[in-house]
Amino acid sequence: NIPVIAIDGPTASGKGTVAQQVAKRLGYHYLDSGALYRLVGLASFKRGISTASESDLIPIAKNLNVIFQEDRVILDGEDVSDQIRQEEMGKRASEVAVHTGVRQALVARQQAFRQKPGLVADGRDMASVIFTDAVTKVFLTASAEARADRRYKQLIAKGFSANIDVLLQDLRDRDARDANRSQSPLKAVEGAHHLDTTSMTIEEAVNQVLKWHQA
Ligand code: C5P
Repeated sequence: NIPVIAIDGPTASGKGTVAQQVAKRLGYHYLDSGALYRLVGLASFKRGISTASESDLIPIAKNLNVIFQEDRVILDGEDVSDQIRQEEMGKRASEVAVHTGVRQALVARQQAFRQKPGLVADGRDMASVIFTDAVTKVFLTASAEARADRRYKQLIAKGFSANIDVLLQDLRDRDARDANRSQSPLKAVEGAHHLDTTSMTIEEAVNQVLKWHQA
């Protein structure tokens, strides 16, 4: 059985960076499941489809023509790595993610990332739905203020403009949408290790996850 480390948590908690570094240290594959929802958000936007229209979104989710190359994401032959990171696509992602049919359409695609020697999967429902038999389950959080601050720095570093108050509000709205939806709401599963990274460095968080995994 190929080992999976499931790392779930709210937006901008730092789980993406932690998950990628854990994967690198172990030589494991990495799944950024949020990117798939962002891609459905982007692909539907490009086709002028509303995030409310589940029946139009399902075929888009099923047929996403995407390639993950190192840290680049290629959709229909176009490098969309930066586009999907924009706040607007994060918002669209959380809107398309409320639909049961969209989530189901992405299950097999996510599970296909489970390859030797192992996988680190980052998302909201990795431990609760997609990889329920993950050997190590981590619920990674940070305060809303710390997360807004991290997201702000990320966006500025990428050359985007950003406003910290708008980010904080958007993050709270997104948390509420992720926690309150009927389908796979964000919550820690039984047996998950809780990791609050508010006052931790990335290195400390990575080491903690590795320690749990190797225990
Ligand atoms: O993690 P990230 O911020 O990129 O995810 C974008 C959105 O996609 C989240 O706010 C959430 O609504 C959705 N998502 C999800 N299930 C996942 C990963 C992301 O519903 N496994």
